[in-house]
Amino acid sequence: MMNQDFVNIIETQQEEKGPSKWAGTLVEYMEMVQKEPKIAMLSPQRIYEMIMKEGVAPVADNRKTKGYEDLVRYKFFDGKIFGTYEAIHDIMKFLKASARRTETGKRILMMMGPVSSGKSTIAALIKRGLELYEQPIYRIQGCPIQEDPLHAIPLRNRDEWNEKLGVRIEGNLCPVCQLRLDENHTDENGLVRWHELPVEMFELSEQRRQGIGTFTPSDPKSQDITELIGKVNMSKLHMYGESDPRAYQFDGELQVSNRGIIEYIEILKADIKFHHVLITLAQEQVIKAPGFPQMSLDELILSHTNQTEFDKFKSDPANEALHDRMYYVKVPWNDTIKDEIEIYKKLIAESEFRNIHIAPGALEVAAQFAILTRLFPSKKINLIKKMKLYNDEYLEEFSKGKDKDIKIIREEGRTNNECMSGISPRFITNAINIALGQKENVETGDEKYKGCITALDMIRALRDNFEHHIGGQEKDLVMYKQLLTAKEESVASEYKEFAKKEVSKAFIHAFDDQAEELFLRYNVNNKAYCMDETVFDELSGEYREPDEKIMRAIEELIPVPNEAKREFRKGVFVYKADCLEQKKEWKWDTYNALKGAIEKKLMNDLKNVVTLSIANTTTTAPKVKARRNKALKTLMKKGYCEHCAKAQLGFVGEILRREN
Ligand SMILES: [Zn+2]
Ligand SMILES: [Zn+2]
Repeated sequence: MMNQDFVNIIETQQEEKGPSKWAGTLVEYMEMVQKEPKIAMLSPQRIYEMIMKEGVAPVADNRKTKGYEDLVRYKFFDGKIFGTYEAIHDIMKFLKASARRTETGKRILMMMGPVSSGKSTIAALIKRGLELYEQPIYRIQGCPIQEDPLHAIPLRNRDEWNEKLGVRIEGNLCPVCQLRLDENHTDENGLVRWHELPVEMFELSEQRRQGIGTFTPSDPKSQDITELIGKVNMSKLHMYGESDPRAYQFDGELQVSNRGIIEYIEILKADIKFHHVLITLAQEQVIKAPGFPQMSLDELILSHTNQTEFDKFKSDPANEALHDRMYYVKVPWNDTIKDEIEIYKKLIAESEFRNIHIAPGALEVAAQFAILTRLFPSKKINLIKKMKLYNDEYLEEFSKGKDKDIKIIREEGRTNNECMSGISPRFITNAINIALGQKENVETGDEKYKGCITALDMIRALRDNFEHHIGGQEKDLVMYKQLLTAKEESVASEYKEFAKKEVSKAFIHAFDDQAEELFLRYNVNNKAYCMDETVFDELSGEYREPDEKIMRAIEELIPVPNEAKREFRKGVFVYKADCLEQKKEWKWDTYNALKGAIEKKLMNDLKNVVTLSIANTTTTAPKVKARRNKALKTLMKKGYCEHCAKAQLGFVGEILRREN
């Protein structure tokens, strides 16, 4: 018996999708075009509109370098492609030019970049997008290449129809449709009743080989051009004879892809004779099958290649003529930690390792490492700072005129092929998988929780993965190891600082009674200072002048120079008054500058105590234990699990002990 619930769901889904069938005659179709010329748009326009339909979002100004002043994020790629804004910008620019049939757009679109930089994903998203795009599309019924119905309009009448329908009709009828027109739609007086040709709605589908195709070069010696342009059907040859379209199979990949897109994988590996077919298609929108007139096709040729093949191609003078027939789009790896992390997160979410806890900092160190290996070593800025700058982190020397400086550094990077070489996301995800796999076997007794991977685990996995890194030059490997684990200016040293700060903050929280006390003392003295009053000293029971030592001990950590202290104190005093007036809290962590200074002072004062509290886990002193627990809880609120919170305390405790 059928499950009625399921049938209901299926019927609703089909209803929501709307009708995908319409059939009529060409003249009826022309009427529809007049009302809605969009249904007749050509493939580059179609793809462009499809991407635009999802909308755009702004990107940071500092990414808008020369040539990318109008850079935006196309939401169509959201959640699948991270970063890569410039490459997509270039592709959109090409589509626009191609839709307008300008010279720029009459070329082969070629994405060029290192492995797993997103080239295939971009192609796959456009192909899937076309399958799901609800803008209807029509073809001549029974045409082997699902061709544009308007091709049947006689050449001599085109100008008139162009104007009437509001479109520009391009291309000629395919041999199959021409034959049908001659045989079935021509009356005894020789009048061609082309407007009666049957037309129908159809869907672009790679599965059904309708308007979406993929071509992968194999051995250039054995690969035949028929794979692109179709071939004679031997079984029908004796029935119809040569040059009869009924004895030809128009099922080459280029014909299949008519009205949509062909993804041409590793284009430069293919034989040069294949290139010539593609170039004619891009340039004139036609291909030639032997024995037949030229066929008009309308499709985007989206090809890709890697750096090595590209360099080989470029250095061969025989290819010179091909060069300017291609429109190159560089697809580099990410230069931004945030975007790179999204790639890893997506991978983990899709894997069996979903239930393993990833400690704060673990994916960050992996992304930092990957990006450091990709950045161009500029004389203007060291690598670590450059990485932070690209990630929009605060750097003192860039607080003013920041965007302009970043743009200059980015432009320098681009001209030096930044992010076109280095460590690939694939290398990193391998390391992540290894690290995750090792944790999976840990017995935790909790179904949902399968262990935890920390930043240190990750650094170790990355380091070990070098042994499985085939390719790459020895000097690169040495440099990569440096970037990962060197004492200074490395991922490991950065992480040390991060861990220290993280734990310090957690402890400050555990000591916030003391922070509050420091704050109060500062306040009492500051108020007296600003009001020109004296302070009542509870101990001696006497009035005395405001305590400069107490105030300066904090101010020097901000730092506020002695000559500016008066202004600073007034500022604090006014801020406090504002807070109280607006009934806002006035606590030790309300005013940012004071908060930072109090944290620093406490850390200095308490370094020994903290070290002690971290280290002495078996201590019975309840106060120490309570503080340690409070610090752990603070860490857990920030995304640590119990395991990695404890590991983090242990790690920092060890660092502090060594520093003492
Ligand atoms: Zn046709
Ligand atoms: Zn954890």
